Amino acid sequence: MDLGIRGKRALVCASSKGLGLGCAEALAAAGVDLVINARGTEALEAAAARLGREHGVSVTPVAADITSAEGRARVLDAAGAVDILVTNAGGPPPGSWQDWSREDFIAALDANMLTPIALMQAQLPGMMERGWGRVVNITSQSVKAPIAVLGLSNSARAGLTGFVAGTARQVAGRGVTINNLLPGVHDTDRAVALDGGVAEREGIQHAEARRRREATIPAGRYGTAAEFGAMCAFLCSVHAGFIVGQNVLLDGGATNATI
Ligand code: NAP
Repeated sequence: MDLGIRGKRALVCASSKGLGLGCAEALAAAGVDLVINARGTEALEAAAARLGREHGVSVTPVAADITSAEGRARVLDAAGAVDILVTNAGGPPPGSWQDWSREDFIAALDANMLTPIALMQAQLPGMMERGWGRVVNITSQSVKAPIAVLGLSNSARAGLTGFVAGTARQVAGRGVTINNLLPGVHDTDRAVALDGGVAEREGIQHAEARRRREATIPAGRYGTAAEFGAMCAFLCSVHAGFIVGQNVLLDGGATNATI
C-alpha cells in the first residue's frame, strides 16, 4: 500500500533503538525524511547512516536528552517544521507503590507526560496552519490495564492520554490527527531489561523469565519493532485522517478485554 507520505518530514524521538527505531524505519521505507534522536551517539549515528542508505531518504541525527528543556530545544531547532511527530522516551523504572517519592513522580511526569505535551505544543500550530499533520505518541499497554510494578508509568501515561483525548478533537478540523500507540511486550532492550529484573527477583534464568511472560500473551511471543513501526506509519499515512484521538493497543491479545 502506498502510504502517500513520500517527501514529508518527520521527527521521531528516542529512536536509535527499539520501538522508536521501528517507527523511524517504517516511515523511511514510506519515503519520509527524518530527524531521529537519542542521548547516545553511537547507535544513533549508525541508525541514521543505515536508514539513509537503505531507504534513500535524508536522516538527521540529533543527540540530546528529549526529556530536558535544553535537549528538547536542540531537537526542535534541528527539526524545524515537521509534518509528522512521533513522541517517545525511555520508560520509568519498575518499583513498588510504597517507595516512590515526589521526585520519582516528577521525573516520570516530565519524561512520559510533559515532554510529549511540550513537543506537541511546539509542532501543532505549524501543522494546523499548513492544514496537515500527524502525531503518534508511544505510550503503553499500562494505559488500558495497569502493570503493578510500573506505577510511575501507569500514572504519567494516563495524564498524557487525557491531554490527547481533549486536544486531538480540537485540531482534527485542521487536518491534524493525534493518536496514541500502546505497546504490550515487545522484543527490545527495555523488555530484556525487565525480564532481567524478574529473573533476579525470582532467582530464575533469564530465558525462563521470558518464557513465563510469553505464556501470558495469547500470540505466544513478544511483538517486534517492525510490526509496531508498520502501525505507526499507517497512522501517519494519508489513509488515517479519520482516526482521531484513539489508543491503539498492540499487545498480542495480552489485555483481556472485550473492547
Ligand atoms: P528501548 O529499547 O530501551 O529504546 C529506547 C530508545 O530511546 C533508545 O534509542 C534510547 O537511546 C532512546 N532514549 C531513551 N531515553 C531517552 C531520552 N531521555 N532522550 C532521548 N532518547 C532516549 O525502549 P523501547 O522498548 O523501544 O520502549 C520505548 C517506549 O515504549 C518506552 O517509554 C517504554 O517504556 C515503552 N514501552 C515499551 C514496551 C516494550 O515491551 N518494549 C512495552 C510498553 C511500553 P539512548 O539510551 O541512547 O538515549
